[in-house]
Amino acid sequence: MSHGLNVSALCRVTNFETVRRILGKAGLQSVLGTIADRIAADADDVELAGASRDLIEVMLRAPDADAAAVRLKTMLGEMQACQRALGLAARLDFEIGAAWSPGGEGDGLRLLEAAEAALARAGNQGGLSVIDLSVADRSVDRLTLIAELPRAIAAGEMFLHYQPKINVRQQKVASAEALIRWQHPDRGLVLPGDFIAAAEESGQIADLTLWTLRRVIADQRALAASGYDLPLFLNISGMLLADTAFIEESCAIITAHPQAKLGFEITETAVIRDPESAIRHLQQFADHGVVLAIDDYGAGLSSLAYLKQLPAKELKIDKMFVTQLTSSHRDPLIVRSTIDLAHALEMEVTAEGVETPAALALLSVMGCDLVQGYLISRPVPFAALCAYLGEQEQLAETMSSRPVFLRSGSSWTRA
Ligand code: C2E
Ligand code: MG
Ligand code: MG
Repeated sequence: MSHGLNVSALCRVTNFETVRRILGKAGLQSVLGTIADRIAADADDVELAGASRDLIEVMLRAPDADAAAVRLKTMLGEMQACQRALGLAARLDFEIGAAWSPGGEGDGLRLLEAAEAALARAGNQGGLSVIDLSVADRSVDRLTLIAELPRAIAAGEMFLHYQPKINVRQQKVASAEALIRWQHPDRGLVLPGDFIAAAEESGQIADLTLWTLRRVIADQRALAASGYDLPLFLNISGMLLADTAFIEESCAIITAHPQAKLGFEITETAVIRDPESAIRHLQQFADHGVVLAIDDYGAGLSSLAYLKQLPAKELKIDKMFVTQLTSSHRDPLIVRSTIDLAHALEMEVTAEGVETPAALALLSVMGCDLVQGYLISRPVPFAALCAYLGEQEQLAETMSSRPVFLRSGSSWTRA
């Protein structure tokens, strides 16, 4: 049993544009940084997850929900006090969106998405809005979920978020990946980690993926019509590569939409189970013009000999190596050799899980082709992706605020 709650809090400057006009961009960033440091220094269990543009993101622990609510109110008060102490020419108004849960492995993203949802409604709730995930049914009952899936698809409860992939050299969005979400009427937001495995076990992954494929094709067409003809990628469970009916139906759908620019991300662990038919079917997709990417590389057991046989154009390094990149001794070596290996096999390399400017800088020095991660953009609704594509100068800003790395022997140091 776990004790206490993990709390994720997003503090946003609501009058960002006004204050920026008065303090200037650099001035505002420095004030935000100071306030963020002050909050983080306040207690041992407060961890600063980031401070950018108009947002401070913190994680903290609290013994229970009441204590968590008190901590957040205190935090709002402290942010005002800190500003008064700085004697600023303009006052920053903050609102907080937060979420908490009893915690557990892999809960971070769920918490963050819930905190974002809370932030979106903080304005209507006096500047502080909270989602308590511990009262929602956390013990996601797989059998119930499996039984509910067909209804959920038909009822339109599934939707897609998109996360851009950035070409490092061109500093441009190269493509985007579709990630499925389930807005459950009682449980709230259910992330794929909670239902993809269940769908695979129950044989419903084919229907779910066909739904996703149709949705992605429609979105890709809308994107092209608005002037951004980018390829959209979807995740294909390796298990489906042995499913002849799925292969036939998906190829029929793709054939009916020859103009759609599509990519499939395939998790390598699953592919390896039946390599021969998987490779044959992958070739069939490639022949239909689908770009293939190997997902989560390094998390499984692929061999070089096996990789060489796949008609894949892109290798995605698993985020477990990327999130620790600048704090680990071993991971930079693994990432560097993976990039070289992929290039030798004439594949492009994508690093997923890029969360810090330091990781981005190091990946860029190492010759990584594409990056994807929270630093650049979280997975966002389709409309937000379109808006993002319209403001790509923001991207150049993120990409250029990077530290420089020098190679010394087998390790990397920050210049
Ligand atoms: P994936 O394809 O490897 O996707 C990357 C996951 O990492 C996503 O989680 C994404 O939201 C998260 N992520 C993105 N950037 C960062 C970052 O900077 N830091 C960290 N820590 N995480 C980041 P998500 O959306 O929960 O998806 C989890 C997995 O579920 C996906 O892993 C994919 O394997 C699977 N999945 C998602 N959608 C589908 C789908 O439509 N069909 C199938 N078969 N699987 C899907
Ligand atoms: Mg993927
Ligand atoms: Mg992945």
